[in-house]
Amino acid sequence: MIDLHSHTHFSDGDLSPSRLLSRAHERGLEYLAITDHDSVTAFHTLRAERHAHASKDTNPDDSSRTSNASGTILRLPQLSGGLISGVEVSCQWEGLEIHVLGLFVDVDNVALTTMLQQQQQRRRERAAAIDLKLQRNGMTGLGAYLDTLPCDAISRSHVADFLVNQGHSKNKQHAFNKLIGRKGKAYVAAGWCEFADAIATIHEAGGIASLAHPDRYPLSRPRFRRMVEDYCEAGGDAIEVSYSNLNPGSLGHLAELCEKHELWATAGSDFHSPDHHWMDLGKIRMMPAACRHSAIWHHPAWQQHIGKLPAIVSAGGSEGSAISDASELR
Ligand code: AMP
Ligand code: MN
Ligand code: MN
Ligand code: MN
Repeated sequence: MIDLHSHTHFSDGDLSPSRLLSRAHERGLEYLAITDHDSVTAFHTLRAERHAHASKDTNPDDSSRTSNASGTILRLPQLSGGLISGVEVSCQWEGLEIHVLGLFVDVDNVALTTMLQQQQQRRRERAAAIDLKLQRNGMTGLGAYLDTLPCDAISRSHVADFLVNQGHSKNKQHAFNKLIGRKGKAYVAAGWCEFADAIATIHEAGGIASLAHPDRYPLSRPRFRRMVEDYCEAGGDAIEVSYSNLNPGSLGHLAELCEKHELWATAGSDFHSPDHHWMDLGKIRMMPAACRHSAIWHHPAWQQHIGKLPAIVSAGGSEGSAISDASELR
């Protein structure tokens, strides 16, 4: 099983990277990409832990076991395949927020690091502006609450948690609707980077850009088509075709879109929390048969970094039959 979209507590996920990996292990994942919002800290953290662990067991003169400094893939005991580096970049397109995943990005790349620092700074500034608006409405304490969190990408999801904890909102949806969503009275636009900037930076870091959860944006059909065209024009490589909560009809539609624009197809749950069982790790529909050749594991970068197909498509039988059953949740 493969899952190329997940979050840790370095953005708005609930779990630490190591707890996320334990869950991935329990759920039998082969490959996982951590794609925190505007952060690659989880990958840095796991790589540092892996190196510390490896050097403890190794003769200091034997550098062979600690020399793997890859910034794109980590071999870990919890995953039979490996951990793929990733990120989910918030972009703006005609005033809307669109998310672009970067997969196989070199987490040490300077352009990427610079862009993510800018995005994190935008997040801090937006949080401060939301705090002011909330204070004017008698809701105090957001800044102090955010200071207690481990994240380096402060998100509105954290603000929603605060509003629910304080009894200002009855649930997170309510917090978004009434206060921090587009029509809420404490809404603040973040001024994210443009599509083209995000994609160019992902490419500079050697990564593949994939348009996250394409059917979740509030767009009319003509505008949606235009957004996808602009995304392709900006150099986008892939779209997420399979993800949690996607109905089979949309899966087919996204597969067609993939074919039409010659895009690669990615799949990921967008896991945030064990409480959201409907978005659990690996809980995604299998790639439709139409994506038999465009599935991301056929991309040259997958071959370059991993060198083999995932077991789900390479084990026994024909590849087509192994990935064609769109009715199964995997
Ligand atoms: P941000 O990227 O800071 O604008 O925060 C958006 C994050 O909040 C998304 O990545 C979701 O995880 C979460 N989110 C967005 N809309 C909602 C909603 N209506 N209810 C709960 N969580 C939401
Ligand atoms: Mn999120
Ligand atoms: Mn997203
Ligand atoms: Mn996500």
